[in-house]
Amino acid sequence: MAAGSFWQGFADTLKIRTDKPELVRAQVSALSRQIPVLYMLLLANAVALAYTHYGSAPDWMTIHSVIVLGAICIFRAIAWDRAKVDVDNVEACIRHLKRIRVLAVMIAVLFTAWAITMFGYGDAFQRGHVAYFISITVVGCIFCLVNFPPAAMLVVAIVLGTFVVFFGSSGNEVYVAIAVNMALVSVMIIQIIRSFYANFSGLIETQNDLEVQHKAMIELSRQNEALALVDPLTGLSNRRAFFSVLEDTVNAAKEKETFAVAMIDLDGFKPVNDVHGHPSGDELLEQAGKRLRKIVGPDTLLARLGGDEFGLLLKGYDDALKLMALGKKLCDDLNRPFMLNGVTVQVSASLGFATYPAVARSPNGLFERADFALYHAKKNARGEAVLFAAHHETLICHDSQIEQALRKADLSSELSLHYQPIFDIQSGEVSSLEALARWDSVLMGQVSPGTFFPVAEKTGQVSFLTRVLFEKLMVDMQDWPEKLPVSFNLSARDIVLSDTVEWLIDEIKTHNIDPGRLTFEVTETAFLRDFEAARTSIRYLREHGARIALDDFGIGYSSLRYVHELEFDVLKVDRSFVAPLSHNERSRRIVKTVIDMCQNLGIDCVLEGIETECQRDALITLGGRLMQGYFFAMPQREVKLDALGEGTKPS
Ligand code: C2E
Ligand code: CA
Ligand code: CA
Repeated sequence: MAAGSFWQGFADTLKIRTDKPELVRAQVSALSRQIPVLYMLLLANAVALAYTHYGSAPDWMTIHSVIVLGAICIFRAIAWDRAKVDVDNVEACIRHLKRIRVLAVMIAVLFTAWAITMFGYGDAFQRGHVAYFISITVVGCIFCLVNFPPAAMLVVAIVLGTFVVFFGSSGNEVYVAIAVNMALVSVMIIQIIRSFYANFSGLIETQNDLEVQHKAMIELSRQNEALALVDPLTGLSNRRAFFSVLEDTVNAAKEKETFAVAMIDLDGFKPVNDVHGHPSGDELLEQAGKRLRKIVGPDTLLARLGGDEFGLLLKGYDDALKLMALGKKLCDDLNRPFMLNGVTVQVSASLGFATYPAVARSPNGLFERADFALYHAKKNARGEAVLFAAHHETLICHDSQIEQALRKADLSSELSLHYQPIFDIQSGEVSSLEALARWDSVLMGQVSPGTFFPVAEKTGQVSFLTRVLFEKLMVDMQDWPEKLPVSFNLSARDIVLSDTVEWLIDEIKTHNIDPGRLTFEVTETAFLRDFEAARTSIRYLREHGARIALDDFGIGYSSLRYVHELEFDVLKVDRSFVAPLSHNERSRRIVKTVIDMCQNLGIDCVLEGIETECQRDALITLGGRLMQGYFFAMPQREVKLDALGEGTKPS
């Protein structure tokens, strides 16, 4: 059994490991360095043996045979050097190894036969030389073939096997001793070859494993890299990819090269998300991405920058007219209805362009200006494209001047509140006052709240402003009749930040003011930003007794969902509906509908911006009761309650 497994092991060692291509390759590349050395060793030792036997052995043995054997060695060594096996081609490597195995057998047989023949000539010293020749040559050859046991083992078996038998059967004690010695050495050599080979193949396997792991890691990091640059929802590039390409494009831009950056924002996306659910919102973004791609083609960088915002990098655009025509096409296409899970939905898109190098030369400069143009489009030309122009630069400057002035201002002394009354037309009394902020800046003079609040919102300073103003309101309210209600405007940011809302209630309590006297006015922008947070804040304020008004109703989306879900106490109809009342039947109908809706819901309806008697009378006819506007009273610092009320009675 043990002998059987030994032979089985030996037979296995003679096989070429075609199942391990890495090992086969490593064997070929090791052999290609060692085999020429092997031939040189054979040649040198054969010449040495022929030399010592010259004269004692016949010339065909010492000269002709050596010439033939030497020629074979030289020829094979040169052939080896020329062959240059392609190590990457496993098939070729296997063929090569097979050839080596055959050649090893042939050459071993040839040299063994030659040496044994030589043994028949010469004296004891010369015979000793033959024994020495065989042992030293075979050991040298085995070292050269050690990476390839099939050949090494065959050589050991043929050469040493033959000599052990030959010497063992010679009848001479010394030669028998040499035979025994050779047999022992053979076993040891076989053991050494096997253990060396085990290490060698183990090493190759480890190397191979490492290489496989390394390749897997490279592939994984390549996939990660690709994923990190793609927006998973739309499959477009993401923000990171957009900025990276933009930066590369700016850096590589040559003289006279032009391109444009476009920012696109969907107007009305948030309500789609809120009303139809997030899966529909996602579907809309996907479809929007596809529409954009169809227009700009496959080679233009198109990215989803986040939320409902897309970015484009348009190469070769320098003509403003062409750019605007493309902008119009993009916006118009996004304005077409979307079909989302069987429901038709419409949004609009605004777009801002900035061109390189006319408008800016840095990636950030381009991005900021495209963003500003977009902001401008959203404010003044919803659903259209705006190209950043020189006069926008002044506006940007103005905004950043305001930002700076706000940062440097001593807000508690520069800010103040003016109050504009809201009248109850039926009783002719002041129903409440709306607090409106005024900023008398040391650096910039009077700045209107319509100008500085949006800047403070953008830069995150608005919560601080709110707190300063509310403190002032609390102080002013101490002097007023106990029951006089007051409205205070909150910005979108205030309403999505719970700590500001909590602070307001604490402040009311600290000043011992009845929370029922306070109405907080909020606009839809807060719900567009974060519906859940806005809802939570509104609930919190109402639970503590304050009232909530939805300001500027009618502009924006005026989603009835907000009215339905957010439990407002007051709706304030925007003055843009009041202004055209006298000549626009449609406005009259809308206002009438809103007044009726409020009546049905049992909430107050305040009509803003009444400037003329005519408007007042028209609103009274439509059922309006609570009114506010320059016609009745301007916002003013000091409120003289008893002097108000002129004009509140219809003439
Ligand atoms: P709003 O809340 O809609 O305030 C009404 C604006 O309309 C006030 O402008 C008021 O002076 C003006 N107004 C009143 N009656 C008439 C009228 O008959 N005709 C016209 N054309 N305008 C009239 P104001 O004070 O310049 O405030 C502008 C906006 O600034 C406010 O609009 C509000 O959104 C914001 N704001 C004012 N004060 C504050 C504040 O304390 N906090 C916050 N967050 N925003 C404020
Ligand atoms: Ca207001
Ligand atoms: Ca308003």
